Amino acid sequence: MNYNHIFSKIYDTLEETENPGEVASYIPELKNINPNKFGVHLTTLDGHHYSFGDSDEKFSIQSIAKVLALVLAYQLENEKLWERVGVEPSGTPFNSLVQLEYDKGIPRNPLINAGALVISDILISHFNEPKKQFIDFVRKVSGIPGIDFSVKIADSEKSVGYTNAALVNLMKSFGNIRNDIDDVLDFYFNLCSIEMTCKELSRTFLFLAGYGVCPYSNEQIINASKSKRINAIMQLCGFYDEAGEFSFKVGLPGKSGVGGGIIAIHPDKYSIAVWSPRLNKKGNSIRGMKFLELFTTETQASIF
Ligand code: GLN
Repeated sequence: MNYNHIFSKIYDTLEETENPGEVASYIPELKNINPNKFGVHLTTLDGHHYSFGDSDEKFSIQSIAKVLALVLAYQLENEKLWERVGVEPSGTPFNSLVQLEYDKGIPRNPLINAGALVISDILISHFNEPKKQFIDFVRKVSGIPGIDFSVKIADSEKSVGYTNAALVNLMKSFGNIRNDIDDVLDFYFNLCSIEMTCKELSRTFLFLAGYGVCPYSNEQIINASKSKRINAIMQLCGFYDEAGEFSFKVGLPGKSGVGGGIIAIHPDKYSIAVWSPRLNKKGNSIRGMKFLELFTTETQASIF
């Protein structure tokens, strides 16, 4: 399949329409991004690469990193993990507080902020040097030693992180946070600050297309059953209160971040990363979602 040709064809179609939406401005450092950037990279399991636009430019992957934290926590905790976080779609915004009180501090799923904060707490409990050990894991999965946090972005988010602080405090009051609140927030903001290019992002997530195996290292990152469950969670929860829309229009498990990135997985085939910083009200990349909708339509390939 000539994906490069399809990419440019879809981009031409998108260029004929307006490019609406705003960059995430609630994190001061994210305001400085050129809103008209656009990149895409697809990596197949058998090692082919296809890219378009600004696919070699780093951006803040934000909530996409929650999936990697979940993979590691699931690996360490096995099924015990689900005593502290659910697997149900929330139907609420990513930073919502409303369900947490009803649910007695147990977040609906690991991909909303509350869930990722619990996952952060779990990882801190397992490690002596949580940030270092986590980034080492990401480097191993991606096979790219240069991947790192952005201190600037983490500090910027920390300076305005009142809602995340509220979430973690509420969960602490229910006994679902074991470590110091500042340590959990520090880990979480660093997690969200990781920077990657579309090419790096697509490569990093390829193991989820390969039933848990990294095709370039042949290393089993998680077993096939867990890998399928991570994809199931992305399918149902990866876009918060727009997860249904993404499933309906794109038909692949995926995850978005407020940096404008999206990763989507076609099990057994490929992983595709798209980046376009203009977001809708739900915090998801408008052009990124539209691009993937047109892509799975054009290629007639979704998991359904
Ligand atoms: N770091 C962001 C936050 O906690 C992540 C949100 C996102 O990408 N949806 O608000």
